[in-house]
Amino acid sequence: MARFIFITGGVVSSLGKGLASAALGALLQARGFTVRLRKLDPYLNVDPGTMSPFEHGEVFVTDDGAETDLDLGHYERFTGVAARMTDSISAGRIYSNVLEKERRGDYLGKTIQVIPHVTNEIKDFIRLGEDEVDFMLCEIGGTVGDIEGLPFFEAIRQFSQDKPRGQCLFMHLTLLPYIKASGELKTKPTQHSVKELRSIGIAPDILVCRSEGPIPQKEREKLALFCNVRPDCVIAAQDLSSIYEAPLAYHREGMDQAVLDAFHISPAPKPDLSRWEDVADRIANPEGEVRVAVVGKYTQLEDAYKSIAEALTHGGIANRVRVKAEWIDAEIFEREDPAPWLEGFDAILVPGGFGERGTEGKIKAAQFARTRMVPYLGICLGMQMAVIEAARNLADLPNAGSEEFDHDAGKKRFTPVVYHLKEWVQGNAKVKRKLTDAKGGTMRLGAYDALLRTGSRVAQIYGGLAIEERHRHRYEVDIKYRDALEARGLRFSGMSPDGRLPEIVEVEDHPWFIGVQFHPELKSKPLEPHPLFRDFVRAAKDNSRLV
Ligand code: GLN
Repeated sequence: MARFIFITGGVVSSLGKGLASAALGALLQARGFTVRLRKLDPYLNVDPGTMSPFEHGEVFVTDDGAETDLDLGHYERFTGVAARMTDSISAGRIYSNVLEKERRGDYLGKTIQVIPHVTNEIKDFIRLGEDEVDFMLCEIGGTVGDIEGLPFFEAIRQFSQDKPRGQCLFMHLTLLPYIKASGELKTKPTQHSVKELRSIGIAPDILVCRSEGPIPQKEREKLALFCNVRPDCVIAAQDLSSIYEAPLAYHREGMDQAVLDAFHISPAPKPDLSRWEDVADRIANPEGEVRVAVVGKYTQLEDAYKSIAEALTHGGIANRVRVKAEWIDAEIFEREDPAPWLEGFDAILVPGGFGERGTEGKIKAAQFARTRMVPYLGICLGMQMAVIEAARNLADLPNAGSEEFDHDAGKKRFTPVVYHLKEWVQGNAKVKRKLTDAKGGTMRLGAYDALLRTGSRVAQIYGGLAIEERHRHRYEVDIKYRDALEARGLRFSGMSPDGRLPEIVEVEDHPWFIGVQFHPELKSKPLEPHPLFRDFVRAAKDNSRLV
C-alpha cells in the first residue's frame, strides 16, 4: 500500500510547490520507488478547461482527456508518469459530485455537510489507486489559510488519522524573505504559517524553505525549534538557474533522505541521479544559443505556454544549445510588417490558441516563415493558421478562413478551410457535437492515434508511421481542400486512422515547416525530448549556422 506525502504551501503563492513535488517524485524514482502525483485545487471551477490562460496559466491535457492544472505537466516532465484524469481534482468537482449524489438520494436523507460529506469525497479521491505505487504525492493548491482550502486541509488531516501510524507525511513549503536593510533572512512568516497549519491539526514533518541564497545554520536551528521539526528536515530551496537542477539541488539538501527517514525506510536504497546530472550538464554548458520567436496571444503571462517553453528547453538539451524563446504578440503583425520583428530569429513557433484576436498576425508569421525559409512549427491553431495562409496565398482561395472566427460578421462569404468539427471517432465510438454544446469538456480532448505518410519528413522525425498525441481543439482542417493544397506543395503527412482528420501538414520545398493539430509539447520531457521539438531545435541550430 502506498505511503502518502501531502505537500502544502504557506506565506505566499507561486513558490514552486508543484516543482518541489515533481522533483521529489523524481528523487524517489531514482531510488527505485514507484510514484504517482496528484493535485487538489481549492477553486470552484469544475476543471481549469474553461479558465483563460491569463487566469491560471496553461491547461494541461492528459491522455484520457482531462483538462487539468499545469502542475500536472511538471509532474509528468519530472517523473515520466503519464497523468490521468484521476490525478487532478478541484473543489468545484468535489462539490458537484456531492450534490449529484444528494440529488440521487445516495445520502439517505442525511443533512449534507462539509464534514463528513465533502471531506469523505476528497478522501475517496486521494485513495484512488493507492495499491498501485510505493508513494502517492498529493499537492494541495493555494496556501494555508485560504477559505476554499479548508475542507482539503481537514480531509488530509483526517486521512492521516485513518491510516496506520507512519503512513502519511506532511511537507510544507514556505518563503524566507531576505531583508536587505538589516541583511537578515526572516523566519517569522514561516513560523506563522506553521502555526496556522497546526491550528487546523496538521504538524508538518518537513519544511521546504524557498530563499534567494543559502540558509545559515542559525536560521535553520531557529526554524526547527520554533516550527517543531527536526533540523535535518529544514530543506533549503534556493533559487535555481534551471528548474531541471531541482532534483540534484533537493538531493544535496537531503530532501529525499529526510522523507525516507520519516517513513523509517532503512537502509535507504542509493539513488541513481546520472540522467539528471547529464541534463544539468547539458543545460549549464551549451555549445551555443538559438533564438525562437513564439508568436502568440497570451504573451504577457509566462505560464500560459508553460509546456511549450519547457519543450523548447528539452529540444535544446537534445541539441546541446540554449534555446532563447522570445514571445511576440501576434496582434502587432496586424498593424506592422512582421519582417523587422522576425528577421534574426532562427525559427518561428505559432502555438495553440482560441478566438479570433491575433489570428491574422499569426497568418502573417506563417507566411513569413514559409516564404523566407525559416523553420516553422505550428501547433493546433498554429497549424490551422498555416493552412489558411497556404490556402490564401498558394491555392487561390483568397477568402480562406476558419469557422471559429466571425470573418464577415455572419455573411459567410469566406471559404471555411477550417470548420467546426461535429463528429469524430474515439476508439470504437462516435463522438457528436453541436454548436450549442456547453463549453466545458466538449472539445476533441486527449490521446488520439495518427498515421504518417511514408517518406514524409515527420515519418523520418518520429522514426515510424504510427503515433499517438494529445489533442485539445474544436475546429479542424477540411480535407475537401487537400488536393488543392497538396498540388501547391502543402503535404498532408499525418491523418487520423480513418483518413478523415488532417493531423499534420508540411511544406515540401522548405528546410522545416510543420503544422500539427495536436500538442506535442505536452509529452516532451527533459530526459526524453519530444522528437518534433528535438528536430525543430536542430533545424533552428542549422539555420543559425551554429553547426
Ligand atoms: N481554437 C482552435 C480549435 O479549437 C485551436 C485550439 C488550440 O490551439 N488548442 O480548434
